[in-house]
Amino acid sequence: MAEGERKALIVGAGIGGLATALALQKAGWKVEVLERSGTLESPGTGLSLWPNALAALERLGVLDNVLTAAVPVRGDVLDMAGEPIMLLEQLEVRRRYGLPIQMIHRSDLTSILARPLKVNTVHLGLEVTGFELGFPRSSVQLNTGGRKNADLVVGADGLYSVVRTGLVGGGAPRSSGTTALRGICPAAGLDHGSVPWGEMWGDGGVFGATPLSGDRVYWYGTLPNEELASYREQGWKQAAINTFAPWHPGIANILQQTPEDAILAHELFDRKPEPVWSGRSATLVGDAAHPMLPFLGQGGCQALEDAVALADALGHHSSVAEGLLAYEHARTQRANRIVSQSHSIARLAQLDSAKLRKARDTAMRLLPKSFRLKQLDTVVGYEGH
Ligand SMILES: Cc1cc2nc3c(=O)[nH]c(=O)nc-3n(C[C@H](O)[C@H](O)[C@H](O)COP(=O)(O)OP(=O)(O)OC[C@H]3O[C@@H](n4cnc5c(N)ncnc54)[C@H](O)[C@@H]3O)c2cc1C
Repeated sequence: MAEGERKALIVGAGIGGLATALALQKAGWKVEVLERSGTLESPGTGLSLWPNALAALERLGVLDNVLTAAVPVRGDVLDMAGEPIMLLEQLEVRRRYGLPIQMIHRSDLTSILARPLKVNTVHLGLEVTGFELGFPRSSVQLNTGGRKNADLVVGADGLYSVVRTGLVGGGAPRSSGTTALRGICPAAGLDHGSVPWGEMWGDGGVFGATPLSGDRVYWYGTLPNEELASYREQGWKQAAINTFAPWHPGIANILQQTPEDAILAHELFDRKPEPVWSGRSATLVGDAAHPMLPFLGQGGCQALEDAVALADALGHHSSVAEGLLAYEHARTQRANRIVSQSHSIARLAQLDSAKLRKARDTAMRLLPKSFRLKQLDTVVGYEGH
């Protein structure tokens, strides 16, 4: 089949769906993206972009725009006194991988990914309610009652993916037992010297604060689900103040400057890694394929890697089915390893025993730099360089 005739339907216009649309369009595919939401605006949060994501964005031709909208992340890991347990050596990161890890507003990233797409690529307000794997074409059922089919259907529809259910079976995702709060506040009123920049591994959860472009600060924290009813009663802002402000004097100020309606709460889930993501004319990217806990800040980065790898694999094979096998071969092992690593770090970061935290902090401070860099290499996908 000539490349120009190939048609792909992508379900979902999040980071994974938009990046895949861009990658396939650049490779000559005719692409339609079906998004149930009426807007491409993402909720007001930050997103860390590691060098693996930046390399993917470069391949997509949008790295310069991303770097204009992003700022280097402050990612040192701190103990409850605000003292470093592990330094994120951004100079070393830059030396090793070319660029420091960045922080961007999600809406900035989605609009940068959507801008180069051809007009009428993304159809908003269109929900996919069913998926049928077929050969040589797969099809989707729409909420409008219609059906669409294509040489390739890509499920980029996130944690509760309809396409995933049709491809590899559904089943409930794994709850982490924690809920993440996220917010953005103006940086202007803050005493910058007192802010614990980076990620504090505190009593049973984490709290992170890092600059965002536009003179803003992005913060996040995790709470145990057992207390959710009481947190809801207090309101998220008060719950955050009650939980995190006692950890460090610089935190209260950040939370007080955040409007209540700018705080998002999401229970955190992942799924057990799945070795197969594809049928002969359909596959998955992003959270639909490998939802992970956010403790490595890699979910979106991995979705970007998927997009580039999928277009590459399809470009190297004349048959879609063979291209999808090559895509799985390139991606499943790496992405699934990051799912498992993120799961382990979630446990390590959220210890509620002071004794265990102390032992952990001491052990982590003793880790040789070479070991830490090796860990970083694994996440960035830099092994063997
Ligand atoms: C607290 C938290 C912090 C995080 N921090 C980071 C970070 O710093 N860095 C990072 O890289 N990652 C981070 N992540 C992970 C990241 O948010 C996700 O991995 C990423 O958003 C996945 O993108 P996606 O496009 O695969 O899925 P999603 O973002 O879930 O997008 C799916 C899209 O599909 C649409 N959709 C769903 N179902 C249908 C349907 N049936 N029909 C049509 N459309 C549909 C949805 O409306 C949505 O637009 C974090 C996650 C959380 C929860």
